[in-house]
Amino acid sequence: MEKKLADSEMQSCTLCGATFDPDAPSSLFAEAGEWLAQEVWHDAGKLCPLCRENRARLAMMYCQEYYR
Ligand SMILES: [Zn+2]
Repeated sequence: MEKKLADSEMQSCTLCGATFDPDAPSSLFAEAGEWLAQEVWHDAGKLCPLCRENRARLAMMYCQEYYR
C-alpha cells in the first residue's frame, strides 16, 4: 500500500533520483544551493536537499567567482 501525502507533493531528485519533500526545512548549505539552483543552474526545486548541499559545498570550493 502506498501512502499519499495530503498537502505536500514528493519530488524526485534529478541528480541522485531520491525522493524528497520540497517543502521540508532546509539547512544553510541547502539554502545556498537553492539560490545557486535559481541563479546559476536554473533547476530550482528539482534537487533533493542533500544534492543542493553538496553542490553548494562544491561551488564554494571551486566556483570562487560566485563568492567575491
Ligand atoms: Zn539528490
